[in-house]
Amino acid sequence: MSTETVLNGVGETIVVLSGKGGVGKSTTTVQLAFTLRALGYKVGILDVDLCGPSIPRMLGVEDQDVLTTPNGKWIPVMVDSEKKLSVVSIAFFLNSKKDAVIWRGPKKNAMIKQLLTTVAWDVDYLLIDTPPGTSDEHLSVMENIRGARVRGAVLVTTPQLLSVDDVTRELTFCQKTQLNVLGVLENMAGYVCPHCSECSNILAWGGGESFAAKSSLPFLGRVPIEPNLCQCAETGQNFMEKFASSPIADIYKSIATKL
Ligand code: ADP
Repeated sequence: MSTETVLNGVGETIVVLSGKGGVGKSTTTVQLAFTLRALGYKVGILDVDLCGPSIPRMLGVEDQDVLTTPNGKWIPVMVDSEKKLSVVSIAFFLNSKKDAVIWRGPKKNAMIKQLLTTVAWDVDYLLIDTPPGTSDEHLSVMENIRGARVRGAVLVTTPQLLSVDDVTRELTFCQKTQLNVLGVLENMAGYVCPHCSECSNILAWGGGESFAAKSSLPFLGRVPIEPNLCQCAETGQNFMEKFASSPIADIYKSIATKL
């Protein structure tokens, strides 16, 4: 595949991976995108989580449609009026939000290839949100992404060992497919009581950081459990704008500058 056709219009690509579902991979993708945009970059999100595409909802654009250019390219859905954050998701191509994607490998591969080659991007950074684990979708992304400028992968895990064990498989996948690992992000790492500021380590502590150290990977940072983050994701609101003075906004900024 020629370099002109893969992720045309994209500066750098970052792949977001997690070993299991529910650890906050999509939340991380969305918050890093908002953060990079706040740092002045044009950012796109490509949601290839074919079985659970949640990004449009988190961005509050789930009712939008992807339009097509006269030469048949898909135009990303703009999230903001300044046109600095845009998204393409498989969710936009389903007839109903309740539709399940029950496709065999070749059909998934064809869709992902199309998503990687047929979008008219104009972004500095593209974040690719993948399904949990290592599946057909991941292999399709890696097979079809060659030729693009791929900066690397962010591995998202929660602190407990069960989640860390799964992210170990992601690391093996990255090694086998020669995908550079930018580092490990530990999500849902403790809950800081808003009244007394005491931190409760609800899901154990430090698993992501010790995994990073053991694997000689950069530790990108630790994002605590933040109910407002969850609330914003549920309602499609921009946490970084609404809670700009939250310490979490600074954590994401520090992580984004390490990418
Ligand atoms: P994944 O993409 O790994 O399946 P999601 O990003 O969809 O996970 O997150 C799962 C749920 O956890 C969502 O409801 C999301 O809002 C919530 N969530 C993720 N990270 C946090 C956090 N740091 N604090 C509070 N809720 C979170």
